[in-house]
Amino acid sequence: MRMRNKPWAEDFLLAHAEIVSIDEARKGQMREWFNNDRPIHIEVGSGMGRFITEMAKANPDINYIGIERDKNVMIRIVEKAIEQNIRNLRLLTLDAEHLADYFSAGEVDRVYLNFSDPWPKTRHAKRRLTHENFLKLYQVILKPDGEVHFKTDNQHLFEFSLESMSQYGMKLKNINLDLHTDEPEDNIRTEYEDKFSSKGFRINRLEATFQDRL
Ligand code: SAM
Repeated sequence: MRMRNKPWAEDFLLAHAEIVSIDEARKGQMREWFNNDRPIHIEVGSGMGRFITEMAKANPDINYIGIERDKNVMIRIVEKAIEQNIRNLRLLTLDAEHLADYFSAGEVDRVYLNFSDPWPKTRHAKRRLTHENFLKLYQVILKPDGEVHFKTDNQHLFEFSLESMSQYGMKLKNINLDLHTDEPEDNIRTEYEDKFSSKGFRINRLEATFQDRL
């Protein structure tokens, strides 16, 4: 997601430190930040934040954390959270490669990846959020039966992810190659999902775990 550079972005985010963290102060402090024992669901690469804000409103008993590395984009999520007075949402301006520094092992119940950047060139494969290196991080921070939920319009990224997750030994379920035909009532469309679906791209979705449920 490209957004014009806003010189005031950092000041704006710092002024809302109760909901968004842009430095290392919250490292290892996610539970304390929410001050409750409810499940934690995170979205990596939240973009403008429609998904994470709508999920938080629909599920007040779950703690949501939106992770977005671009400060200029993060502003949009903070604005939504404030305007709609969403209490069960926190935000980290963070590159996902540092996830394990912020979350304790087994602290997270679910990871959402929505319309992650496809990085089509082979030499950039390690930047894809379903690359083995990122799967390793999700495995550390997720509970043993925690789930990764992934949606994308990008056929190549989806095929890469199926292979990457399978080779990593993840168990895949609920694979859907056309989510918007018989769209589930509870599907919350992201900004990118609407954009690419309206252009005629099929939406792929899967759920994955790192081990079989007992
Ligand atoms: N999920 C949103 C949606 O579906 O509308 C945004 C999709 S956009 C294509 C991908 C977003 O992920 C961008 O805002 C980008 O800055 C963010 N992103 C990409 N790689 C990231 C990383 N390693 N860590 C954190 N955010 C990342």
